[in-house]
Amino acid sequence: MELVSAKLYIVPTPIGNLGDITLRALEVLKQVDVICAEDTRHTGRLLSHYEIKSKTMSVHDHNERARVDTIVAKLANGESIALVSDAGTPLISDPGYHLVNGVRAAGFEVVPLPGACAAITALSAAGLPTDRFCFEGFLPSKSAARMAQMKNLQTEERTMVFYESPRRICYTVKEMIEIFGPDRHIVLAREVTKAFETIHGDKASDLLLWLESDSNNQRGEMVVMVAGYKSDSDEISPEVVDALKLLATELPLKKAAGLVAKLYEQKKNALYKLGLELGL
Ligand code: SAM
Repeated sequence: MELVSAKLYIVPTPIGNLGDITLRALEVLKQVDVICAEDTRHTGRLLSHYEIKSKTMSVHDHNERARVDTIVAKLANGESIALVSDAGTPLISDPGYHLVNGVRAAGFEVVPLPGACAAITALSAAGLPTDRFCFEGFLPSKSAARMAQMKNLQTEERTMVFYESPRRICYTVKEMIEIFGPDRHIVLAREVTKAFETIHGDKASDLLLWLESDSNNQRGEMVVMVAGYKSDSDEISPEVVDALKLLATELPLKKAAGLVAKLYEQKKNALYKLGLELGL
């Protein structure tokens, strides 16, 4: 049965386990005239596993804008096109935005297929609230920009979902302790759907100890999910943490903790302990 026509199909591919691709995705990939792939060699391995022989064309961050006209011309010529990325759902921290935008602007249909996405897969097993969440993708790589972005999320009440690289995971969790406090619950999902899948959640300071206790815990692909801010919890608010950090630059920690405790009606000991954990 003919499943495709002159449209752009957005096709998710597995995020590790080759079995995680839908029957419809395989059929669409088999039938389209051209598969646009981020890395044609990488996608080639998936295609040969499933004996799919469709033509491929590279569409990645560096050539995507230039490819839009070519792909629109193909659609106008009656050809059907699929877009895949290296893994998971295209456009989700992956190329495709300019292409989808351009194709829609040219009046052609874009057909989304459901399928694997690391953020959603990880979130479904994290045990954090999922009624409201925000996807933050990758934080900036430079520390100052990363901290600034996290600061904007200090009182975000929704569960926050980040992608992170193994190289930076320890720095990022350290920074999260500074911004969100040591007691904020964080769940790390690494190598989801693969042999070494690990989903580990703890308060931020203990998660860092767990990461540092075994370098294997820092390996592979990972999703970091941070519980949202609760204004009515025992958690020390970001405003109080900021005040403590500021005063501790001028005063011994004990004095700073005492003053902040008085100003914000907090427990001095809890603030002192937090100061030690933050290395103030
Ligand atoms: N488009 C993809 C999706 O739908 O999830 C995401 C692509 S993004 C370039 C790659 C990042 O996704 C990785 O650095 C990691 O943060 C996350 N990721 C991808 N596969 C994963 C997996 N199997 N387990 C955990 N995280 C994964």
